[in-house]
Amino acid sequence: LRVVRDRRALAQALAELRAAGNGIGLVPTMGYLHAGHGALLARAAEDGLLPVLSIFVNPLQFGAGEDFARYPRDEAGDLAAAERFGAVLAYLPDGDDLVPERPEVVIRAPALMRRLDARARPGHFEGVAAVVVRLWGIVRPDAAYFGEKDAQQLAVVRRLARDLAVGVRVVGVPTVRDADGLALSSRNAYLSPGERRQALALRAALAVGEGRIAAGERRPAAVAEAMRRHLAQAPGVTPEYAEAVGPDRLDRPRRILGRTLLAVAARVGTARLIDNVRLWVPLDGPATPLVDDPPGEAGRRAQVARRRLEAVLAERAPQAGVAWRRAVCDALRGAAALDGPTVRAVLAQVVGRGPLGTVRIGGRDLDELAAVVWDAMRSASAISKEPSRKLGEIPKGVPRPQD
Ligand code: AMP
Repeated sequence: LRVVRDRRALAQALAELRAAGNGIGLVPTMGYLHAGHGALLARAAEDGLLPVLSIFVNPLQFGAGEDFARYPRDEAGDLAAAERFGAVLAYLPDGDDLVPERPEVVIRAPALMRRLDARARPGHFEGVAAVVVRLWGIVRPDAAYFGEKDAQQLAVVRRLARDLAVGVRVVGVPTVRDADGLALSSRNAYLSPGERRQALALRAALAVGEGRIAAGERRPAAVAEAMRRHLAQAPGVTPEYAEAVGPDRLDRPRRILGRTLLAVAARVGTARLIDNVRLWVPLDGPATPLVDDPPGEAGRRAQVARRRLEAVLAERAPQAGVAWRRAVCDALRGAAALDGPTVRAVLAQVVGRGPLGTVRIGGRDLDELAAVVWDAMRSASAISKEPSRKLGEIPKGVPRPQD
């Protein structure tokens, strides 16, 4: 593990790694490393990239009265863990090396940054975005790895990469939990043994939400309320929010269907904790875990299939705008199993939402539209299942994955 503390040394080390023909997988963290961070680093390696870690307790993402000063720090422990987790390079910026002055430019994603955690932490995601974009500019990684544990952060950085066309692939990594189900978090260090037991109420509340969905409930408000009630009756727990939303736009759908995020936040002792589960909810029957980007070659193929689906939709439904095509591809992403009726139902949900509701494809009705998409999906996935090719090689005519 090579440790660098300023941008010049970082650039030098990165240049050497690249000269040897390696791609870079960046894992930004605030340190006090645990197995969750380890999973991000391992995933970069699985994707064929060199895991590069940054450790920076970012003052811009802490509000007044939050835990910036007491946030746990352990440099020696972190470096030992980083080595164990397979990081090849660690950037621990000295003093103001990463953020030399208060940024004048503020990156805002108004809809995404208004909901969930942003209510209690105004300015938090603007602070995250400022530092993530700086890190991307300095490191220029091929991919950047973020935990699904911080679901809103993941949604924000995905959108950041897309809207600013930074050329960094954002990969979400499933939440790593302790044996008893508690999501690993540096902030768990704030919990006494008793509070740690009480903190299990977050995962239990999510299980209540999953149970309601399994029992056939599809109203987001009803599922959210069941989770909130569970948190409210848990001893030592002060609930903050409980929500059932789409994992990309973080808004409540009319009906729970397809990609779904159940998310909770609560205070336990002096710690503010968050947790979530991501599900693919079929029309009826049990939900399955939502897997956005499988590791390695399978993930690469899924990306190619999405790009291909977009390209085929552009060909066959040219009247629809790019935003609509993206929304369709996003809505179908990560499904465990899809069939014609599910595609139709998911489309009904997408078309019925907000400004997209006004988009019609050449006057076609929903059934025709669903047939076009279903057809496009099958041809896209057939192409994506061609015999494995070298990672990163994309067949002719398919735009390179950006998201
Ligand atoms: P942090 O150091 O808490 O800012 O986290 C750095 C990165 O690790 C973020 O992308 C987090 O989402 C991710 N992360 C934190 N906890 C976990 C966990 N339990 N499982 C997976 N990823 C995590």
